[in-house]
Amino acid sequence: MKKLIVIHTGGTISMQQNEEGTIEPSKQHPLSNLNETKDVPIHEIEFYNLPSPHIKPEHMLKLSDFINALLAENEDIAGIVITHGTDTLEETAYFLELTCKSPLPIVLTGAMRPSNEIGTDAIYNFQCAVRVATSKEAIHSGVLVVMNDEIHSARYVTKTSTSNVATFKSPPFGPLGLIHKDKIIFYQKYLYSDKYTEIHEITKEVHLFKAYTGMSNILFQHLNKNNTNGIVIEAFGQGNLPPDVVPVLETLLQQGITIVIVSRCYNGIVQPMYDYEGGGKNLQNSGMIFTNEINGPKARLKLLLLLQKGAAAEEIQSAFQE
Ligand code: ASP
Repeated sequence: MKKLIVIHTGGTISMQQNEEGTIEPSKQHPLSNLNETKDVPIHEIEFYNLPSPHIKPEHMLKLSDFINALLAENEDIAGIVITHGTDTLEETAYFLELTCKSPLPIVLTGAMRPSNEIGTDAIYNFQCAVRVATSKEAIHSGVLVVMNDEIHSARYVTKTSTSNVATFKSPPFGPLGLIHKDKIIFYQKYLYSDKYTEIHEITKEVHLFKAYTGMSNILFQHLNKNNTNGIVIEAFGQGNLPPDVVPVLETLLQQGITIVIVSRCYNGIVQPMYDYEGGGKNLQNSGMIFTNEINGPKARLKLLLLLQKGAAAEEIQSAFQE
């Protein structure tokens, strides 16, 4: 029987509630040796023990390299479960989606309540992730996030509630599948993502901004080609910005800094519709790239990988049209 690899990285799912009611990292992983998953041979790896706000793209790259090597060198693996803090889980999931080559299931899960708190979702989510990662339905489905009986695609999933166990949603299209008591069903087709596999280090700087009324120039004025390679902006609506920030952004574009526009709305299409100062049409004419279906943090990771790989302007443009 093929084995399942479980990679722990930290987060609430790796922590315990203490007597004061606060949550802290625990020495022994609370999910190790769970009886609920004994029907699958599991090989556990404590890769990191980090709260997920401590995770950086460098950690994601190391994890991705490890998974690619593991799956290339071993034929007796059914799939991989990664336990992760929920705060940044969607970013690691998307990074792995863009950098892991194998069609085998790679499933991330986490918990909103540690395993010793009343109403914990840690054990249940872990058990569901194990079921999905060992199911044939999950092969060729991309990197998945399993939480609260739902299977989400890394591309769309996002944390929507600070504390509710039903926090992970895929706003544009909903979950890819659902976990029934006796079966796993995918209701939607997985859309393949381009892969960026020849990345060996993270050295580029990509900054993320969110548009707001009366947005100030002050931060943009500190950017230049010596400290910045790319910028992602969560713009208004279909992709519009306050006119005051446009001249400084145009200066940055002229220096060769790539600017990608996503929307601060979590549903709908980003497209250059408006032909006024700061309107999408004007931004696109200046050379800003519009992209859809991914949020700001994910667009930032994608741009980081493209710049890291040395992609030319046309390649970056077409990758964001994917
Ligand atoms: N702050 C925690 C983390 O992301 C939250 C969690 O895991 O649910 O590490």
